Amino acid sequence: MRPLLMIPGPIEVSPAVVAAASGPPPSHVSAQVIEAFGESLEMMREVFCASPSSQPFVVAGSGTLAMEMAVVNLIEPGDSVVVVNTGYFSDRMAEMLRRRGATIEEVRAPSPGAAPTVAEVGEVLRRVRPIAVFTTHVDTSTGVKIDAAAIADLGKDLGILSIFDGVCATAGEEFLMDEWGADIYLTASQKAIGLPAGLALLMASERAMMRREELKTPPPMSMDFHQWLPIMKAYEERRPSYFATPATTLIMALQVGLKEILEQGMANVFERHQSVADGMRAAWHSMGLETLTDPHLVANTLSAIRYPAGLDATLVSEIAKSSVIVAPGLHPECKTEYFRVGHMGYTTLRNDWLETSVLAVSQALSAKGHVNSLDKALEALRAHIG
Ligand code: PMP
Repeated sequence: MRPLLMIPGPIEVSPAVVAAASGPPPSHVSAQVIEAFGESLEMMREVFCASPSSQPFVVAGSGTLAMEMAVVNLIEPGDSVVVVNTGYFSDRMAEMLRRRGATIEEVRAPSPGAAPTVAEVGEVLRRVRPIAVFTTHVDTSTGVKIDAAAIADLGKDLGILSIFDGVCATAGEEFLMDEWGADIYLTASQKAIGLPAGLALLMASERAMMRREELKTPPPMSMDFHQWLPIMKAYEERRPSYFATPATTLIMALQVGLKEILEQGMANVFERHQSVADGMRAAWHSMGLETLTDPHLVANTLSAIRYPAGLDATLVSEIAKSSVIVAPGLHPECKTEYFRVGHMGYTTLRNDWLETSVLAVSQALSAKGHVNSLDKALEALRAHIG
């Protein structure tokens, strides 16, 4: 039996997405790719809750490329930036900014699973007055979700660009890009968007696009908004064009994946992720497990769960014996102390998969001598997911 993939990305995808991603590779200038690309860009604005004037980019690559595109198109050597650091992926963003030659001030979480307060971020932004503030919406290493609305609001008030890494959040956590006034929201295809890995997705506000115009140090060619803008415009106008070959098979799948999300309605998508996360957390708590994440900061897209006393990372391989794959910890300071279960995207629509995951964790705990009740865990889950 093929194991069920319950890591925080890549995730299980829908049968329609599998079908769309399985066809013979089409040309990048074929009518079907032009239509799929154009429609996907239009749908992206809705999924990202972005304004009609914002600019979507879809480029072959992963979330890391999307992060770097944000860095090199908005920042140049000598610029002052602030990084709100909640874990492993904020460290990565800071390193990219350092390599671009920015002067960085970090507002760091006091410990893994925590986050700086909005007041702390505001104090630093008022003192430093940077060009931009970079924040990880959901840090996949700790399960921490930051108050993105409040940080975007600070950016808007102070005239500071706000950039959010939504790789573990976009289409899973509420993010109202237009309403909140955020400048970049970026993600990758293999998370809540519900595709295989291979696409970097990024939405830029008008302010962000204007910032690119001001740069004196151009970005590397393959990441430059200037190179990609005419291509994105052409696809939206349903015209063929070429700068660098797009991942055509994944573009066909993107059209299907985004359509499936929009058919549910964004408000329902966010609500469903909330119910599923509540249910999964209730199940873990009923087994006597605790989250690594501060309960006020828990994300809806994954659970970061501490091993109970006496257990260690061998629990992850014990869980795999039930054909469910979960992920070990990732935060460098405490990765041996917890494991992670992803619950985002198409997975949230499959109660059977959520139950199978709870069952696998329960059985593994029992096998390791940690007493727990599967019935109670399933009851706790079902109370939330219906
Ligand atoms: N940011 C976050 C929050 C992530 O979760 C990830 C991937 N786990 C990345 C960035 C990097 O994305 P990728 O692995 O697709 O390059």
